[in-house]
Amino acid sequence: MATEDSAVSEREEARRAKTAKKSTAAKKTTAREGSAKKTPAAQPPAKKAAPKKATAAKVPATKPTAKKAAAKKTPAKKATAKKAPAKKGTAGTKPESQASKASRAERINSELAEVYYYAHPELDFENSFELLVATVLSAQTTDLRVNQTTPALFAAYPTPEDMAAANPEELEELIRPTGFFRAKAKSLLGLSAALRDSFGGEVPGTVDELVTLPGVGRKTAFVVLGNAFGVPGLTVDTHFGRLVRRWKLTEQTDAVKVEKEIDALLPKSEWTMFSHRTIFHGRRICHSRRPACGACPIAELCPSYGEGETDPEKAKKLLKYEMGGQPGQRLKPPADYPGQPAPPLPSRDPAATGAAQ
Ligand code: SF4
Repeated sequence: MATEDSAVSEREEARRAKTAKKSTAAKKTTAREGSAKKTPAAQPPAKKAAPKKATAAKVPATKPTAKKAAAKKTPAKKATAKKAPAKKGTAGTKPESQASKASRAERINSELAEVYYYAHPELDFENSFELLVATVLSAQTTDLRVNQTTPALFAAYPTPEDMAAANPEELEELIRPTGFFRAKAKSLLGLSAALRDSFGGEVPGTVDELVTLPGVGRKTAFVVLGNAFGVPGLTVDTHFGRLVRRWKLTEQTDAVKVEKEIDALLPKSEWTMFSHRTIFHGRRICHSRRPACGACPIAELCPSYGEGETDPEKAKKLLKYEMGGQPGQRLKPPADYPGQPAPPLPSRDPAATGAAQ
């Protein structure tokens, strides 16, 4: 029995040991499986989650920015493209009301007042007689050429009495650089004699009196009145007429009709300075043959935008501008003039300089 018991006991122990082994193996397997499942499940999502979140954060941040940028650019481009051409079409299809023209004229005037804050008459003069003579000489030539000519002229004939008594040939010779010198000499002799004989040697202060002088029309009269007497008036010269027609403020080509139509659009107090600003703009940016539309500060208000160069870089090269370093028209500009004075007449340097002093 003891042997049998002992054998049974041994078998029983062997069975238990086997069962215990199986159980341990099973537990280890389960543990490995559990471990194997947890690790990939926890780590990759953690790794993936971060990039996904980062990507998700970047995309919305990038896309709206791009959209916003595009949205910002598009209206700006549209606005630039629309502004001038849109008005061109409008002006061409239906007549602009007088009120709208007046409003546009005032806006043009105020824009130009900012750009050409130093606008002034571009003829050199010390008194009303010199301004009258210089204005007569400015027909068919530049103010610069007149300014280069008048120092010697005024040194020789400072008063109406002196000029009225001048030798015609000597007078002609002095004003030769301005062109049409025979006709202009005749006018100067005539108007000087009239001032001496009819106005006591003084320049009269009304349009009606001024236009009775030889060689003096309304344009000359208004230049003298506006700049020597402080009486408001428009100066309808070639620049002024061209620009107000480009701005579609008038279609008139006759100077008197232009003057009357523009008079009606602006307050009287602005007439003289509007003339100067417009003439400044015509000389510097809105040229006769090739206006620099791409560099024009009033392009938005101009129905003729596109008549000239619209490329900003090419347009800049067309500017004839003291702010770009070019000399002005006057040898003796006003104190607030920001540019360089004009040079004297090259061939007459010594005489002109001596005469001016
Ligand atoms: S330069 Fe061009 S846009 Fe400017 S006023 Fe002249 S025509 Fe108009």
